[in-house]
Amino acid sequence: MKIHEYQAKQIFSDYGLPLPRGSVVETVDAAVEAATNLGVWPVVVKAQVQVGGRGKAGGVKLARNIDEVRRHAQTILGMNIKGITVKRVLVEQGIEIARELYAGAVIDRAGKCLVIMVSPAGGINIEEVAAATPERILKLRVQPGLGLRAFQIRQAIYFLDLPPETHEVTSRIFKALERVIMDHDASLVEINPLVLTTRDEVLCADAKIDFDDNALALHPAIAALRDENEEDPLESEARHHDLSYIKLDGRIGCLVNGAGLAMSTMDLVKHYGGDPANFLDVGGGADPDRIAAALRIVTADRAVNTILFNIFGGIVRCDRVAEGVLRARERSGIDLPIVMRLVGTNEDKAREILAGTDLIMMPTMSEAAQKAVELSKRGE
Ligand code: GDP
Ligand code: MN
Repeated sequence: MKIHEYQAKQIFSDYGLPLPRGSVVETVDAAVEAATNLGVWPVVVKAQVQVGGRGKAGGVKLARNIDEVRRHAQTILGMNIKGITVKRVLVEQGIEIARELYAGAVIDRAGKCLVIMVSPAGGINIEEVAAATPERILKLRVQPGLGLRAFQIRQAIYFLDLPPETHEVTSRIFKALERVIMDHDASLVEINPLVLTTRDEVLCADAKIDFDDNALALHPAIAALRDENEEDPLESEARHHDLSYIKLDGRIGCLVNGAGLAMSTMDLVKHYGGDPANFLDVGGGADPDRIAAALRIVTADRAVNTILFNIFGGIVRCDRVAEGVLRARERSGIDLPIVMRLVGTNEDKAREILAGTDLIMMPTMSEAAQKAVELSKRGE
């Protein structure tokens, strides 16, 4: 899960990191008031959307007076950045930038440890720096149990070539990165840019924290920061029903129980030359209500022209699934062809239930996938 810059900065401030002063607002008038209260010029007006590259997209603007604040707030509020409408702006004291650096913490899954990264080439996408000039990134592997060591912090400071009067604060920043990522079960913490000002101060000009969804239950205060304005509406609805749904670009709507089975179903669809419209795991207890919700979500995607059910009845009984599918279809009035592979507990009963209907029962997963692909190409 992602959060907004202003929220990440709130967390940074709890850890004593140096930040520009500012406040987040939702209207032009409030932006003007916030700028006036800061009492310094220039100020910067920043779009609060959870995507990178807001600067390039015109979502970060410097204002030298009240008129400019009003003008920038007017353009940025309501602006569309990469498909998301800006609802809030952060109004902050402007910084006189001497150098833009990068500092971040990330979980290195392959290396099985936390990695602190720093670069003198901040302000731009770190992936670009990594691709073009990897020697400009220093990666410090943090040994589990030992934490970030003093010598590693010195290494980072010398790599960034920072003036002596900033060493104390930058040490604190690197240590805080480690604590922020560990304390919140985050997967990424980024300060880009970490600014060295013309007066040799260090400030976190931007802040980004991504959290591990699987750990959110342990952090209710973080989970509450979720902004549904930023999500695909179908994906949020699916989350409310405890379904894991990811929208894709194909025509075959897939409803499967179990994430592994869902992945292999998508593989088979691809193998037979079709394209899945989604990944969807209806979960273990595929009860009729959840099937109905899943069917509604999958078919809300206009591109879907065929539905493929792949259900393995282990704990869930096939006859209940069959009833659930029929009822869900009746309720939703969907008239797309439905291909089903339904095996396991009570599959005989399920077959009886579906016998007189137009649902297409296939005996194996491969045949079901093949049939769905064939149907999805009708009229092509
Ligand atoms: P991003 O583009 O979404 O990563 O947004 P950032 O917060 O990183 O801002 C983008 C760029 O705007 C930064 O790299 C800076 O060059 C510039 N910027 C941000 N804040 C200030 C500021 O207070 N003063 C100045 N001069 N430039 C700023
Ligand atoms: Mn940035």
